Amino acid sequence: MHKETIRETQTDVLVIGGGTTGFGAAIAAARQGLDVTLVEATTKVGGVMAFCPGMPWGGGYPVDRIVGGLIEELTTRLSAMDPPAAEKRACALENFGPEIVYDHDVATLTMFEMLEEAGVHLHLGTFALTPQMSGTRIARVACCDRNGPLEIAARLVIDCSGDGDISAKAGVPYALGDASGAMMAVTISFHMVGVDWQAAFADPDPYFRRYAARGVAEGRLHPDLARLYLMRGFHEGTVFCNSVHVRGVDGRDPVAVSRATQEGRRRCHQLATFLRSDVPGFAGAHMSMLSPTVGVRETRKLQGLYRLTGSDLARGTKFADGVVACDNPVDDVMRSDGGMTHDAALEKGDYYTIPFRSLVPQHVENLMFAGRILSADAVAFASVRGMPQCMTMGQACGTAAGLALDAGLAVQNVPAGALTAALTAQGVNRLAVPDRPADAA
Ligand SMILES: Cc1cc2nc3c(=O)[nH]c(=O)nc-3n(C[C@H](O)[C@H](O)[C@H](O)COP(=O)(O)OP(=O)(O)OC[C@H]3O[C@@H](n4cnc5c(N)ncnc54)[C@H](O)[C@@H]3O)c2cc1C
Repeated sequence: MHKETIRETQTDVLVIGGGTTGFGAAIAAARQGLDVTLVEATTKVGGVMAFCPGMPWGGGYPVDRIVGGLIEELTTRLSAMDPPAAEKRACALENFGPEIVYDHDVATLTMFEMLEEAGVHLHLGTFALTPQMSGTRIARVACCDRNGPLEIAARLVIDCSGDGDISAKAGVPYALGDASGAMMAVTISFHMVGVDWQAAFADPDPYFRRYAARGVAEGRLHPDLARLYLMRGFHEGTVFCNSVHVRGVDGRDPVAVSRATQEGRRRCHQLATFLRSDVPGFAGAHMSMLSPTVGVRETRKLQGLYRLTGSDLARGTKFADGVVACDNPVDDVMRSDGGMTHDAALEKGDYYTIPFRSLVPQHVENLMFAGRILSADAVAFASVRGMPQCMTMGQACGTAAGLALDAGLAVQNVPAGALTAALTAQGVNRLAVPDRPADAA
């Protein structure tokens, strides 16, 4: 019988999850000369961005100034290509600022290149399974790929996994969904290719309600498709359909996710058929780029040193340890029986920042977490979760890793001023730096 050997390796910083957050964390840490290993369960980088190809980077311009840092670097690199592979566009939905649309494949390729250039060791097809603790530190993380078990010893771990399995197993408390435990719906997206844009977008309603109502009333569309969100894709004649939501799915459960994906595929096919037959401009179009799996918006929200709240947002709080600015609306998607909301999170013309303390656990000394597992209440979470914000939260943790390891500090003791000054030097906008309030930065 084959006896499995456990491979062992070590690194300065282990980043778990290669979504937009893990991308930011890995590059920021590696650019400080640290040895960085990124483990990603799938074969692509991007996370939700890869699962819902073509999804715009929303919220990139709080009060119309780019977030800055890595998302700006990536966007500039894509926009400078010939032909350009990204551009800034107005969002058709209420209360959202401008967003960045891009060519999905070129963007993914470029993200891989940036990881390579930074010298990140990328392990695709690799699952992080269990942290092995040594007191209040994670000593190593047991992982697994197709060749069997792999143990990675790390000086510092950044959990960017979207679901926070490793943080939870390391003892970080968490809440699921809203106060009643309900989580936002999962979504499966696709493109329609060969659409006559002029005819399709002649009606200014971004939700195509007039048409959708007929489809729902006649039983040709699922009742949750009463509002179709269809937007111009990056390339002329393509339309991105971010409309098929499946409620009540626990994104931590692979069986539930597979079931929702198959149900979602059926609804996408129904919708594509409906668009062709009932909506002007779609008659000659076909479906393309169907998500390989549903995109999961929300599972665990970990408990950090600080829990960001809806009231912090409403007050436009600019924290001394704020690491990224945001003015996204409260974008709630069908938690339990709820509908969709895009209510403004704060007064027009204002923004808030996400504090570093929301990315730091109370007790584990060498763990940070970022992205959609940050410490936030349900209202704040519905606003903070845009990909530019996630990428910058990751960048903040990668940068904080450098500060912590250089000075031999627990992550809880990373000085806020040094972190925000370092991020500002990396081009992140609107942060408070020592002796300068956020507004003036
Ligand atoms: C359907 C949908 C529509 C959205 N629309 C928009 C939009 O239009 N604009 C916008 O800016 N934002 C949008 N968002 C929000 C945004 O996409 C997410 O909040 C963001 O992508 C989260 O990034 P993340 O890196 O934190 O997590 P994820 O993108 O979930 O990435 C986590 C990564 O970790 C990997 N992973 C998980 N567990 C492990 C493990 N144990 N070991 C190894 N790897 C692991 C996963 O495979 C994945 O690649 C949307 C989200 C969804 C779901």
